[in-house]
Amino acid sequence: MNELIARLRSICGASNVLTHDDPGADLSAWEQDWRKRSQGHALAVVRPASTAEVAAVVKACAASGTSIVPQGGNTGLVVGSVPDDSGTQVVLSLTRMNAVRALDPDNLTMTVEAGCILQNLQDVAEKAGFLFPLSLAAEGSCTIGGNLGTNAGGTQVVRFGNARDLCLGLEVVTAQGEVWNGLTGLRKDNTGYDLRHLMIGSEGTLGIITAATMKLYPLPAAQLTAWAAVPSMEAAVQLLGLAHARLGPGLTGFEVMGQFALSLVDKHYPQQRVPLFQETPWCVLLENSDSENEQHARTQFEALLEAAIDVGCVTDAVVAENIAQARALWHIRESIPLAQAEEGLNIKHDISIPVSRIPAFVTETDALLQREIPGVRLVNFGHLGDGNLHYNVQAPEGGDSRAFLRDWEEKVNTLVFDQVHKFEGSISAEHGVGELKAHKLPTYKDATALTLMRAIKQALDPQNLLNPRKVLA
Ligand code: FAD
Repeated sequence: MNELIARLRSICGASNVLTHDDPGADLSAWEQDWRKRSQGHALAVVRPASTAEVAAVVKACAASGTSIVPQGGNTGLVVGSVPDDSGTQVVLSLTRMNAVRALDPDNLTMTVEAGCILQNLQDVAEKAGFLFPLSLAAEGSCTIGGNLGTNAGGTQVVRFGNARDLCLGLEVVTAQGEVWNGLTGLRKDNTGYDLRHLMIGSEGTLGIITAATMKLYPLPAAQLTAWAAVPSMEAAVQLLGLAHARLGPGLTGFEVMGQFALSLVDKHYPQQRVPLFQETPWCVLLENSDSENEQHARTQFEALLEAAIDVGCVTDAVVAENIAQARALWHIRESIPLAQAEEGLNIKHDISIPVSRIPAFVTETDALLQREIPGVRLVNFGHLGDGNLHYNVQAPEGGDSRAFLRDWEEKVNTLVFDQVHKFEGSISAEHGVGELKAHKLPTYKDATALTLMRAIKQALDPQNLLNPRKVLA
């Protein structure tokens, strides 16, 4: 192994290959996942600075049969970006590859390296007068490579789609260390299998994304945010229908938040002043992006909310008066996962269900869980516009959250996933499979789809060197 480390150091420079033998070494930032569910032990953390270095690192690892765990910001939530505890895997961190290679205003694209932090890309686009719409609470530290690796969603999917829908081209290093240059920036290209879509969402198991060409959009002339109290999940779905009909493509955000989820923000971050939540089981956060002007946006928004109050699907609402207020409302929504973490370990789900079936799913599954675990607390919130709920399960008040996880995680997952299956949904809408859910796929994924997935993995990575045991157990 010393030979491999020496080879990696000759490729990337000694200071960019970290091992436990280095004086004062602390690799925990790369070895532990964001949720602290897994503490791995790496052979080395390697930080290449270019595509050529990534390719050379992969070739060196392949020659010695060493497996590689690609890593971006390490904000993933399914134990996909960290090594196992064998001390034999190389973590390939892409964060030094953080250049914006090109911005093409006429083609409405930017070509960026995999290690670019998402928020930096939003800023670069905005400075050039464009919108890069991918947005999620981890945007200050997640990378575009990780976003594409997981096909991340976030808060703007209802209008712009997932990371997949924003990507026009990829540059990828294969498991053999070859470079596929697919950075075309084309909106139309029907020359065979779409390898881009195969790589996106493959969680580092099929190839290493080193750069991507991403779509840009015009900045909206005005953007308004509203917060509405709704009396039930059925009412939230009704409001979504009204919002689609009245705002059309202006509807760029539609988030639902349960009362208990908001009460955790209120408890752990009281300075945030959560509006309206005490009197209502659900609140909805809506965003209207308008290409005309603020007055037009406001008139449209107020008409929507009046119509919603008339039909009874909204009981009260506030429209943010300015950008600071809008940001404060979004900040409340984005603080839910953090407030939940403050409350203790919990069982996270990122499920999707056809929007029309969500109310029945929630009523039935809440009742089943309450019957099984009296007093269990459900932290339910998410991107209702996309049919995606973070249907999270927290120990009863005062319970030991670590013991709760130990005793209940597998049973709760089975109960919730069985319900998801019954309602024809997916057990992962956003976070992916990683290691955490790999053992669940055979139960819930179509058997033929799984056979095809295994065949693809075998064809592209016959040595099983790229992120082994993630996605496919
Ligand atoms: P990492 O965590 O480093 O890696 C994630 C996966 O991608 C791993 O399997 C890894 O091997 C692979 N990977 C990383 N880089 C590459 C690469 N260059 N090439 C190939 N594979 C690669 N996710 C959502 O979808 N929507 C949300 O709304 C959302 N909200 C979040 C909120 C919080 C507070 C947190 C902590 C996470 C949230 N996430 C969300 C999950 C996470 O942030 C996303 O999955 C994100 O896209 C991961 O990016 P990353 O750079 O941190 O990737």
